[in-house]
Amino acid sequence: MNETAYDPQNIFAKILRGEIPAHRVYEDAHTLAFMDVMPQGEGHTLVIPKAPARGLLDADPASLAAVTASVQRVARAVKAAFSADGLTIFQYNEPAGGQTVFHLHVHILPRHEGVPLKRHEGGMADDAVLAEQAGRIRAALDG
Ligand code: 5GP
Repeated sequence: MNETAYDPQNIFAKILRGEIPAHRVYEDAHTLAFMDVMPQGEGHTLVIPKAPARGLLDADPASLAAVTASVQRVARAVKAAFSADGLTIFQYNEPAGGQTVFHLHVHILPRHEGVPLKRHEGGMADDAVLAEQAGRIRAALDG
């Protein structure tokens, strides 16, 4: 297989198909947002397109536009839900760029003055904690 081809067995494709669970916070026709299971900070949320794309470079522009709109919407809710002072939003492409899951995704991290991010490989979060945080974000989206 071409190593830069989209692999439909990647973990986020499985989440999209409902084959593995995720704490979902937002969904529309073109995008899905859910909690990162190994968060770099409280409230670490991911937004993905439903259309298959490995990263930014092979994504359809319409899909990218939908992701951007959802990132803004979810970011506002994340900021409110965690009373954040700011947000860090980032997106990696290919292993050299730091990417580990090869379905396009945008990270949203609420930030507080003086609190550094945890390391990327910081370990799995407690499921109940993620569930509570997802509920907070969903409530902020509804509010
Ligand atoms: P990347 O380095 O590719 O930008 O980030 C992939 C992200 O996906 C990481 O922050 C990692 O914690 C997260 N992640 C990896 N596997 C899973 C999973 O099975 N479920 C969820 N919700 N997040 C995952």
